[in-house]
Amino acid sequence: MEGLMMDFELTITGILEHANRVFPRKEIISILPDKSRHQYTYGDLYSRCKKLCNALRRKLKVQKGDIIGTYAWNHYQHLELYYAIPGAGAVCHTINIRLSASQTEFIVNNAEDRFIFIDASLVPFFEIIASLLPTVESFIVLNAPDGFSCSLSNYLQYEDLIKDETEDSAWEEVRETEACAMCYTSGTTGLPKGVVYSHRATCLHAIMISLPNDAQISFHDRMLLAVPQFHVMAWGFPFAGMLAGAVIVLTSAHLQPEALINIITEEKVNRASGVPTLWQGIYTSLKMHTPKDFPLKEIFVGGVSASRNLIEKYNIDFNIKLVHAWGMTETSPVGTLSRLQPEHYLLADNEKLDIIALQGQELPFIEIRIVSKGGMPAPRDGKTVGEIQIRGPWVIKAYFKSVNRDNFTDDGWFKTGDVGTINQEGYMHITDREKDLIKSGGEWISSVALEIAIMSHPLVKEASVIAIPDEKWTERPMAIVVFKDPKSALTPDEFRAFLSGSFANYQLPDKYVYVAEIPKTSVGKFDKKEMRRLQAEGNL
Ligand code: AMP
Repeated sequence: MEGLMMDFELTITGILEHANRVFPRKEIISILPDKSRHQYTYGDLYSRCKKLCNALRRKLKVQKGDIIGTYAWNHYQHLELYYAIPGAGAVCHTINIRLSASQTEFIVNNAEDRFIFIDASLVPFFEIIASLLPTVESFIVLNAPDGFSCSLSNYLQYEDLIKDETEDSAWEEVRETEACAMCYTSGTTGLPKGVVYSHRATCLHAIMISLPNDAQISFHDRMLLAVPQFHVMAWGFPFAGMLAGAVIVLTSAHLQPEALINIITEEKVNRASGVPTLWQGIYTSLKMHTPKDFPLKEIFVGGVSASRNLIEKYNIDFNIKLVHAWGMTETSPVGTLSRLQPEHYLLADNEKLDIIALQGQELPFIEIRIVSKGGMPAPRDGKTVGEIQIRGPWVIKAYFKSVNRDNFTDDGWFKTGDVGTINQEGYMHITDREKDLIKSGGEWISSVALEIAIMSHPLVKEASVIAIPDEKWTERPMAIVVFKDPKSALTPDEFRAFLSGSFANYQLPDKYVYVAEIPKTSVGKFDKKEMRRLQAEGNL
């Protein structure tokens, strides 16, 4: 028998409608690229989203299903795009502003973005590649200073786009399974892959991350989103925060520790998100000078493993909780999160730390299994190591424009490439990762892509790239190179010049080690484990 409840679709505009109906006076605060402070309300955001949605449809002739790029910092206009693009039935594609020209060109062409909304300060980057992007009809410039002009052949200004629009028309009707947003991930092959989020997945993720066992977001909170809006939709907090009625604080490019400490203090932020590297920097600054009545209480960290040490230091020195979460672009992103339960309260402090430093328990409706080498599901015993596979309502079922099923099992699970254990209480621990990517700050660097590029140099015989631990960035790439003729070696500067056309600066190896032979495994693959061991012992 069918249930007798309404067919009511879960959509992004459903979040916005709720936010406007229930919390119209809640604030959204932006520190803009020029450092000026902008503040308005959920109600103001709602009206401008309506106007923007009209402008998209009437002026830009945006159709249902069109993909529209954003290339922007964190601020209120970017938030408007998060809601108004899906409101017009289109897909908000947030482009990572840290990628190289060739990677960005690939992503925009692969997505076939029709328009790109771009911060004025980031326009020079696109002036170089615009002619290589045939699908982009025009650029809409955000935060343009007075007298702004640029060489993009077809551009207009954001405020001009929306200023004459009305707020009267209805949102485009969409089914909850239709696409609302899109991000690209870095693949092990080096080519980014498109992940397309549905309205339903995004709504369910927003609800679940807010729960009391999870990020605990409510209308009592003032939240700083220190995850870039181009990184997995700022981890879903722009949606979760507004659904819960929290004050939202966005800081453009102002992510330096001192700037963030000032903003947190002035805006009375009690909850924040971000990668451990960022919070490591803030810790160091806070140690030197802690403002009186520093309001921060909890920080949601993930993207890479948050170290036990960092969690402990924040707790002891500032009484701030680091809440450790794990996820991926392919999982919207949050899959697990670690909090203590009442039965843990009696444990010794170091045992409590052992638990909260784990990657944590599955969010509701997320299922994780560990698959050991033989392909069998492993017991949840905290000991048996295997590949982490995941399924759930906000987990990818296919990559954009891809028929490749390598990352998916026949019985409907996504293969994360991460390796770890799950204990009897359901806490996951990531011990390793299969894919040899390097995580620097919050960003991935593909070691495979770097290796291919280095080995394309005529003087190089073979090369491998490994991650070396770095206090500030978590990991940095190091290249291990064998030259055809050891007498004609390249200097690190020559390597940097050779690679910089294809990679962003932060992706370039910090160190180059020249060896006679690269260690190999029994099947002839580069033995990165062995290289990391030799490097750690100082024997490379
Ligand atoms: P991305 O798609 O860029 O978000 O990267 C996803 C990958 O980041 C995962 O597959 C993990 O390897 C890594 N990751 C994310 N969060 C954590 C965490 N809390 N601990 C360890 N690794 C993590």
